[in-house]
Amino acid sequence: MKNFKELDLIEPLQRAIAAADYHTPTEIQARSIPELLQGKDLLGCAQTGTGKTASFALPVLQMLDEDLPEYPVVRALVLCPTRELAIQVADSFRGYGKYLDLHGVTIYGGVSDKPQIKELKEGVDWIVATPGRLLDLMGQGYVDLSEVEFLVLDEADRMLDMGFIRDIEKILAVLPKKRQNLLFSATIPDSIAKLSRDLLHKPVRIDVSPETPTVERIDQSVYFVAKRDKKRLLLDLVRSEEVGCGIIFTRTKHGANRLTKRLNKAGIESMAIHGNKSQGARQRALGALKDGKIRLLVGTDVAARGIDVDDVTHVFNYDLPNEPEVYVHRIGRTGRGGRGGTAIAFCDSEERGQLNDIEKLIGESIDVIDDHDYPDEGAKASSSNQNNGNSNSGNKNGNSRNRSRNRNRNRNRGRNKSRGSNNSQPKQNNGRQRSRSN
Ligand code: AMP
Repeated sequence: MKNFKELDLIEPLQRAIAAADYHTPTEIQARSIPELLQGKDLLGCAQTGTGKTASFALPVLQMLDEDLPEYPVVRALVLCPTRELAIQVADSFRGYGKYLDLHGVTIYGGVSDKPQIKELKEGVDWIVATPGRLLDLMGQGYVDLSEVEFLVLDEADRMLDMGFIRDIEKILAVLPKKRQNLLFSATIPDSIAKLSRDLLHKPVRIDVSPETPTVERIDQSVYFVAKRDKKRLLLDLVRSEEVGCGIIFTRTKHGANRLTKRLNKAGIESMAIHGNKSQGARQRALGALKDGKIRLLVGTDVAARGIDVDDVTHVFNYDLPNEPEVYVHRIGRTGRGGRGGTAIAFCDSEERGQLNDIEKLIGESIDVIDDHDYPDEGAKASSSNQNNGNSNSGNKNGNSRNRSRNRNRNRNRGRNKSRGSNNSQPKQNNGRQRSRSN
């Protein structure tokens, strides 16, 4: 598919897409948007970096806009595993929906609930939430989900990994039975397969193979280096490589702090992001990277993995992760939206096993860079990696698919439009009357 015009999206969304400077739909967008606009359930096997957020945000916004009640009422609910992801997804809803008369709120813990309650009282059409705080506000009577038509579970595998299944079940229990369900997951282990069987009705399954799209457009390399020399090598690389905007992954929070200090001492602006930092500090660090105030973010996986900052030029695996999938997630912070990116890994003699596992998973050897001041023969000697050729290839994003304009949405559109009199919304004032309603 060559451009967004071929998708059956309304003009205000097309305008927002143009304002975001998107030209070509990504594979998951081209494949899922037509299906979702027909009201189908969807199982999307895709990780961040594939454009999956727009693949559900655009059709959900369009369908919300098709049938505006006089007062906003929660009709779309997106559940996310982390507040960082919730904020990013909600930002996308706001960005793509900026020419529509729709309102939403982002609900997550670790911050005061007052602004969130205020938004809920004014009335919202969509909620993007992490499960814990949502249940908390539901318990206090601030959230009415009885009119939800669209449910999205984003990064469902991570939600289950983080132990959210009970919370999700509690939320599902109060939703109307008839609704359109979307489940996105980077991987489909048995637990997700079961959840999708329980939740989805005749879903369309779309697989955007989890590793390949990201890996292929990222220039990956590995340096064999002793643990004690990693800092110095990093400084050399950051000084010599054209690192415009980078994320460095460390194993520990202390490691991230120490490295940040060292970088700043060397005059390289950087900030740390990890679980010990307050929500405010994390947001500030993220904002500083987005605004170009710092060049490098140093973080652990929990905080840094879901980061969605365009134009990240470099990802450094300062320490290799134990799980090879995590490596793929990490390097997916660069090469976003079809752009290229550089991923540099450091491997010391104790990390050889991890490197082997990563190469097995991605199905290729990572280029070894020997030409540096701190080669570690010990790490290299135990290496089976003999490949010095450049395996980086272009992005194969070309995708064409027959589009169906037949809008046959068998969803329940019946709803009570006089929101003000709905006594199932105990603490919602719905003070937000819409100027336009259908
Ligand atoms: P996601 O996989 O949803 O996290 O999106 C990855 C990144 O790609 C985000 O930074 C989006 O802004 C960007 N993006 C999404 N769709 C497109 C597109 N069609 N063209 C260019 N960039 C895009």
